[in-house]
Amino acid sequence: MYLIEIYKSIQGESSFAGRPCIFVRLAGCNLRCSWCDSEYTFTGGYKLSEDEVVAEIAKLAPVKLVEFTGGEPLLQEREVIPLMQRLLGSGYELMIETSGERPVEKVPKAVHKILDVKCPGSGEAGRFRMTNLASLTERDEMKFVITNRDDYEFARTFIRDNALEGRVGGILLSPAFSKTPTPERTTENCLLDPRELVEWMLADGLNARLSLQIHKYIWEPMKKGV
Ligand code: SF4
Repeated sequence: MYLIEIYKSIQGESSFAGRPCIFVRLAGCNLRCSWCDSEYTFTGGYKLSEDEVVAEIAKLAPVKLVEFTGGEPLLQEREVIPLMQRLLGSGYELMIETSGERPVEKVPKAVHKILDVKCPGSGEAGRFRMTNLASLTERDEMKFVITNRDDYEFARTFIRDNALEGRVGGILLSPAFSKTPTPERTTENCLLDPRELVEWMLADGLNARLSLQIHKYIWEPMKKGV
């Protein structure tokens, strides 16, 4: 499979935020989100066999939580699914972050899926595969990156129309982050003030979780491999 990097850091998002985690970042993406912070995954990457990826992960012991991310990791589903099965068999706890544009039905049920539903501000709204909703369990989470009020209303409608509150383990609303942030570790780098987003959530009583990318506040926002 083609990879960009394998490293360990603190999980920055989701209900796993703050936990030590190994990131397996795969190469390639079929979307082009306007605020993407991972454009360096679009091309290139290095090829590793399944055995080599397992060995790289083992070097980062004793961390046992592993996230598959990208890019879009499910573009390499044929290689990723057997690797997941092998890691689960070795006692790893697994997560995958995907746009939900590719089918997720073959992802083992034990893997925590984070499905990142694209809102209009991303320029990629409408790419979510609605049949994926049938594969979700309370182990899984839905994420919406929000740039403005239109995005928020899109997310609120999607959440309510599909009865996501109570259907999945968590709903994450994350203010979009600037592609050209200052080096300061501050919410000034968000495209939408988190305080404004919180006010909207409170007004609607939305059963969702504000999700700040905490790695962008622990380290300088543009730092890679953290
Ligand atoms: S799906 Fe993820 S990696 Fe792909 S363009 Fe969007 S934000 Fe970037």
